[in-house]
Amino acid sequence: MELIREYAGWFYLVGAILFILTLRGLSSPKTAIRGNTYGMVAMAIAVITTFFVVDHVVVWMILAPMALGAVVGIGRARTVPMTQMPETVALMHSLVGLSAVLIAVAAILHNNHLVDIFSQHADALQAAGVEEPHMSKVHFFELFVGCFVGAITFTASLFAYGKLAAKKWAKTISGSWVKPLQAILFAAMIACGIYFFAANNMTAFWLMTAFALAFGWVWIAPVGGGDMPVVVSLLNSFSGWAAAGIGFTLENNMLIVAGSLVGSSGAILSYIMCKAMNRSILNVLFGGSMSAGAAAAKSGEHVERNHRSGSADDAGFLMSNADSVVIVPGYGMAQGRAQNAVKELATILKEQGVTVRFAIHPVAGRMPGHMNVLLAEADVPYDDILEMDEINSDFPATDVVLVIGANDVVNPAAKDDPSSPIYGMPILEAYKARTIMVIKRSMATGYAGLDNDLFYNEKTMMIFGDAKKVVEDMTKSVNGTGH
Ligand code: NDP
Repeated sequence: MELIREYAGWFYLVGAILFILTLRGLSSPKTAIRGNTYGMVAMAIAVITTFFVVDHVVVWMILAPMALGAVVGIGRARTVPMTQMPETVALMHSLVGLSAVLIAVAAILHNNHLVDIFSQHADALQAAGVEEPHMSKVHFFELFVGCFVGAITFTASLFAYGKLAAKKWAKTISGSWVKPLQAILFAAMIACGIYFFAANNMTAFWLMTAFALAFGWVWIAPVGGGDMPVVVSLLNSFSGWAAAGIGFTLENNMLIVAGSLVGSSGAILSYIMCKAMNRSILNVLFGGSMSAGAAAAKSGEHVERNHRSGSADDAGFLMSNADSVVIVPGYGMAQGRAQNAVKELATILKEQGVTVRFAIHPVAGRMPGHMNVLLAEADVPYDDILEMDEINSDFPATDVVLVIGANDVVNPAAKDDPSSPIYGMPILEAYKARTIMVIKRSMATGYAGLDNDLFYNEKTMMIFGDAKKVVEDMTKSVNGTGH
């Protein structure tokens, strides 16, 4: 036991290196499982080592909530469907933010308590050579920043959770009053924080925390649903920085390293997602709501347009006679749990000599990497899965593109309609293929609430129905009509 205590720094160093290897492993589907294993080992090292470096009195206080957290976490992990993963992640970030706030509060109250005790028994304690408890300004600064970043992360993530889970209380707000309110809350939060920092005034601390909680909500509430993934990733980054702040407060190097890794990787992911949507992070956070734009677009005159529909049989026949097929999966494949059926269809087409590849848009589905995870789960070979930049130039030479429950990520309005709220977002250029087939249940819009010209394209055949059922029917058809 003493040994672990003495070498805690080394154990933390091993943990930190494993966390870095985790991120490296997670950067490719081939090494993701190994990366995850590193992460679990690193976390186990971090938690076990911490047990040996804390005061023994508080160990049960850690064990009890850990046991409770494990029960809730395991229960949730076993039951949460993949489609609810983004909101679950957002909810977890809110807990990291809340922890940062509670730890900052506890550290300040603890310090105040020590100061009180000292002042009550100052003479005796001074005579016994005990020094007056004193919290350095650096420490106050960490607490001030850690607390307000944590508070903002808490309410903003809670709102993101509510928004993604379509809760009634998570209403998008808009109006000319929103930006001034955001500015007032932010300025009030900083002013109170500075006063607390300068004068150790507890009223200022509580006010700062309250303003930060309110700011988190008002800051994220105007952001539209389509931009929520970027927000969740940014909040992931915030929760990391808040954790790093707690690490300084608790003088725990492991937490500083792990928090910084989460903070920086979340920031990089947010940047990549913004690039994929052709937006700047400031535009996402302060540029207003994408869904507000969609609502405005929808409020225009509704024109009935013609589309062509076909059967799974027709589609199967066409595909089995094609040389190349590109499958574009989207949220509907996840929703319909069609990934295994899709893999079977791809395998049978390949057996018949058709070149089959998958095209993945960075924000297809409802979370980054959503489609990659589903296709990996269905054992689709990694070499058949291509990112947007790798496949876009191949669409014009593709015989058939099969869009399975994707909508926004193949909407040509992003390229050719400057009035569209998604204008400028890079898309999978499925419209350039020789024949386009789209599986969905109706002509309903996708996540951004926008109509999609692709569905009315003269090269497009709509195949209506649940993704899994339609793909299974296509497979039957391909089986019966092979070359
Ligand atoms: P979309 O949400 O644009 O479209 C999905 C389509 O799937 C719908 O039009 C729906 O049409 C169809 N569908 C739903 N269920 C089924 C089913 N069971 N069988 C067949 N079809 C089905 O999805 P995309 O993947 O194209 O785009 C993702 C969108 O989500 C983007 O706007 C992105 O910004 C946003 N987003 C992305 C996140 C991420 O990180 N990836 C996170 C949160 C949002 P119908 O109802 O007619 O069947």
